[in-house]
Amino acid sequence: MKVLLAEDNAVNRTLAKKLLEKHGHTVVLAENGRQALEALERETVDLVLMDIQMPLMDGLEAIAAIRKKEKGTQVHLPILALTARAMKGDREGCLAAGADDYLSKPIHTPELSAALEKIRTAKITEVPASAVVATTATNANTNSLDMADALQRVEGDTELLEEIARIFADECTKTMADIRCALAAPDAPLLEQLAHRLKGSSSNLGARLLAQSAAELEWMARAGDLRSARLYFNTIEAEVSNLLVELEAISRKVPH
Ligand code: MN
Repeated sequence: MKVLLAEDNAVNRTLAKKLLEKHGHTVVLAENGRQALEALERETVDLVLMDIQMPLMDGLEAIAAIRKKEKGTQVHLPILALTARAMKGDREGCLAAGADDYLSKPIHTPELSAALEKIRTAKITEVPASAVVATTATNANTNSLDMADALQRVEGDTELLEEIARIFADECTKTMADIRCALAAPDAPLLEQLAHRLKGSSSNLGARLLAQSAAELEWMARAGDLRSARLYFNTIEAEVSNLLVELEAISRKVPH
């Protein structure tokens, strides 16, 4: 299938693109809702994977725009919404905007494949609740990176893991610098957005501890509690530096 993937997070975007390509699909990329709509003007695709939280134009808005255009035609482009928010009501929100189905991030290949298969066979009318992924972070592992989880995510492809790790390290360093600025400003909405980004990339990488810490920070920012956020940021900095050391070790292990 030809798939339009709209996702603002570079780690998630690369991971989803590579996984789709591994399974023989062609991928067109967009980094926000506006780019997604532009891509659809140029290209005919079989399916859209639409992240919900994106800058400039979010996924719900883009999905609504696609459905508005289809009105009065026979066309119905299958759209799978991708969301990191595991909150109740999200699924309803996605479906209300016009999405056919909903996948929780981080993306798990079996669920993605199942959803694609369903669309390929055009049986997307009603999706069982089992297709909705609930990821519970149970982590007895003291390592920053859960290697088993990370490898499973890339289907055992160590080269892809190395690539994802490299993108993550670059992005994470930038995001941490931006978080520092947001805390100093102080800018709670920006902080919330940055913490959300950090949570998304780290959970897609398999860095659960950091993903959990970033989620905490996101909540503090949402609550406008910058005092706690500032204190908590030290924990996150320590977590990030551990993780970056572990990622370094991965790159050294993987032969070129
Ligand atoms: Mn996003």
